[in-house]
Amino acid sequence: MRRTSLRLAFLLFLTSLSLGSLLLGGCASGFNLVSVDEEWEMGRQLEQDVARQVDVLNDATLTSYVNQIGQRIINQTELSNRPWRFHVVRDDAINAFNVPGGLVYVNTGLIAAADNTAELAGVIAHEVAHGAARHGTERMTQAYGLNVAAALLLGQDPGLGAQIAAQIAGGGAIAKFSRDDEREADVRGVRYMARAGYNPEGMATMFEKLVADRRRDPSSVEQFFSTHPLTEDRITDVRREARKYPARGLTTNDGQFASMRARANRY
Ligand code: ZN
Repeated sequence: MRRTSLRLAFLLFLTSLSLGSLLLGGCASGFNLVSVDEEWEMGRQLEQDVARQVDVLNDATLTSYVNQIGQRIINQTELSNRPWRFHVVRDDAINAFNVPGGLVYVNTGLIAAADNTAELAGVIAHEVAHGAARHGTERMTQAYGLNVAAALLLGQDPGLGAQIAAQIAGGGAIAKFSRDDEREADVRGVRYMARAGYNPEGMATMFEKLVADRRRDPSSVEQFFSTHPLTEDRITDVRREARKYPARGLTTNDGQFASMRARANRY
């Protein structure tokens, strides 16, 4: 009896902590009210909503190349038993994004801007890491509160899916990751890359390219920077992290990359 009431008191304490951090918004990092099952179910709905917001490319060759890199990376995550889907978006902006439920979108502009497979894999690994760490549903929990999964899945709020998809695809408030989220996605992404056989140095060189592009043509990378705060410090950290893994035997470039980049450049 006593133990039960103690447990109840502890649960109430936890609940008040959770609600407290929910109200405080920014302090709720790591707090997620969406289950993995709900997230994947939501993903099926969001995939359709996102397809109405962006120009998903119907190019089996290019999509299957991105998918092949993506599947090697997701095999290193704790959510590898779930179905993940990779899409290429016809858009010159250098950007990629993750949508809850195992969805990763890569712009043709990003493929065209990469110089080798490892640089492309670096951005894919970073996005997969946001997904595996479930940062997207954490943001949704913060923005919409307790019932976001139910509201979306039960159709209680008919415009909600479109609203979430527009926010994510357009780099809106709920797509903006915190610096802690970025650090976590970088560390996980580097680990996934190395274990999947890609040289993780590629993530650092791709990020350097994004910083250089911001100086030259800010609009080309605006969305990536607004959703993923990227600083010189972060690049230094990524490089330090990458050096923990022996580069021998890791792929920097493969035989298909050059023709895939040329293909992306045609759109
Ligand atoms: Zn990020």
